[in-house]
Formats: sequence, C-alpha cells, structure tokens
Amino acid sequence: MILVCGGAGYIGSHTVFELIDQGEEVIIVDNLQTGHKGAIHKKAKFYEGNIKDRTFLDRVFRENEIDAVIHFAANSLVGESMENPLKYYDNNVYGTQVLLEALHKHHVKKIVFSSTAATYGEPENIPIRENDRTEPTNAYGETKLAMEKMFKWADFAYGIKYISLRYFNVAGAHVSAQIGEDHNPETHLIPLILQVPLGKREHISIFGEDYDTYDGTCVRDYIHVTDLANAHILAVEKLRTGSNSKIYNLGNGEGFSVKEMIEAARKVTNHPIKTVSADRRAGDPATLVASAKKATNELKWHLKYTNIEDIILSAWKWHQNKPNGFEE
Ligand code: UDP
Repeated sequence: MILVCGGAGYIGSHTVFELIDQGEEVIIVDNLQTGHKGAIHKKAKFYEGNIKDRTFLDRVFRENEIDAVIHFAANSLVGESMENPLKYYDNNVYGTQVLLEALHKHHVKKIVFSSTAATYGEPENIPIRENDRTEPTNAYGETKLAMEKMFKWADFAYGIKYISLRYFNVAGAHVSAQIGEDHNPETHLIPLILQVPLGKREHISIFGEDYDTYDGTCVRDYIHVTDLANAHILAVEKLRTGSNSKIYNLGNGEGFSVKEMIEAARKVTNHPIKTVSADRRAGDPATLVASAKKATNELKWHLKYTNIEDIILSAWKWHQNKPNGFEE
C-alpha cells in the first residue's frame, strides 16, 4: 500500500489517479486546508488529519500495511512564504519531521518527496542540473531544501531511502477534466490567463517586461501534471528495486516566456486575452529551465505531453468543465 500525504491537492490527486489506474492500493492523508474533498479518488482510503499530529499518523501507520510514502503535504506559495516564513517552517519542515518519525517508528523505508526548482534560487547554469548550486531566494524554497537535508540525515541514521523530485512549472489537468488545478487564492500563470476567456477577469498582468530574456518576460519550463504524476510512480518503483536515495529534476528542458504562454492560450481558447504591464514579482528569477536528463536516463521517465498548447488545452477543458473549481 502507498500512503499519499497531500493526496487531495493538485499534484497529489493526479498522482493518486495514476496509482489507482496502475492497480496500487492507496491511502490518502490530507487536512483539506488546501486540498479538496472533490479531488479524492473514490477507491482511495481517506484519512482527514494533519501530518503534524503524531497520534493521528501513528493510527494511520498502525491500521495499514504501508510499503512506501509519497509526500506532497506542504504549503507552496512563494509570496506567502516571504510574509509568513514561520508558517512554512512549521507545516513543511516540522510536518516532515513528524512524518519521518512515523516512518522510522513503523519501519517504512521508502519515501518520494515533492521538491521544487525553488531550491536552486537564481540559477548558475541553464538548463539547471541536480548538482548545481542551491541557494533559495525565498522562504518556500529554503524550507523544501531543509526538508531534503532532513531526508539525507534520516537515510544516514535510519536507512530511510528517499527520492526527491524537484518540479519546475506544473500545469494542465487530468484527461477526464474531473480533477485539475484549483487554488484559492490562485496565483499561477496558466489558470489566471484562462480566467480571461472564462469571463472571470478582465486582463492578465505581466509581472515584469524588462528581464534579461528574449522578449523581456520570465521564461519557465512547464510540464503536464500527469507526466509529473507518472514520475512519482517510477520513483516508487525505483525505490522498490533497492535504489539508493536520489534527487531528480522534473521539467521539459524547454522554456516559454510569459508572453509566449499568453499567445498560446489565445490560440487554444480562440479568444482575445488582454494584457497589462505590471511590476516584477519579488523573488522571480528571469529563467528557470530544467535539465531532466537524469530522470530520463535513470527513471526511464518520458513525457506524454511535449506540446505547450496540449498542456494548456487540458487545463482549458478542466476550467470549462468546472469554472468554479471543486466548489459546486
Ligand atoms: N506571472 C505573471 N502574471 C501572473 C502570474 C504569473 O506574469 O498573473 C509570471 C510569474 O512572474 C512567473 C511566471 O508567470 O514569471 C510563472 O509564474 P507561476 O506563479 O505560475 O509559477 P512560478 O514560476 O512562480 O512557480
């Protein structure tokens, strides 16, 4: 059985859907603070609670034969982390500590971890490789790096093997259009762009047009959430073969600027999308593009979605299907 912490969230729920499709038995732990009841797969066993609650976690581990854990349960907003860093240390770092204590206590030796490109900070090379310098420029990235370090020492001391997956920009929705991205407040580029053709906002703001990039706007590496979900399953399989602990970048290796994303969304939706120039957002590096060669070679990870318009189309179908997200 696989325990998915944060399995009612955006990436967690897509991973649960893929796991169940592949015949795995899944247990979800989620406190529904940012996750949604509507995103929980009907075939998963659901426990509502907080990973910081030792008694609760103990019960989950006692009641189930857990073989591996996939850990998504964390806060992930850069801006919020700069205003309230201690919330991030508490939920992300302390939450992970309690979770690792439970793994240790119940002799579970495999964990796949949801990490981020924000661990690198301002990149020294493009594309970014796993051994490049990690100097986060925001508190969110710093807590994720602290969590990675905690895994390293928990492996050293207790033999808990981990695979840390450093995501770049995640986008799109499940092929059924029944689950997808639903953050409140929404801060991510693609759902915000799509709110314009949905009639929910007048325009999209472009945060900075004077970056050192080909059109002055930030360049990011977008991957489809289902491709990302599949990487977690490959990582669990790798740990099951007795692999050592590893860190992998998950991206496409190709960058798109904010302006290119807006243009692609115009094509996909067949709708004019008004833009407004805005100030730079604090903590945004100009370009973040991954080298995912290591994941391709070692996990045999291959993308199903390589076209940015297909990724945006899958998000567009979800938002059209559920304009108000999981809230009916
Ligand atoms: N962005 C933007 N306008 C928005 C939201 C985002 O110009 O309304 C930019 C943002 O500055 C960044 C890129 O779009 O350069 C992707 O932002 P997002 O928040 O989706 O992901 P992040 O790169 O922060 O993980």
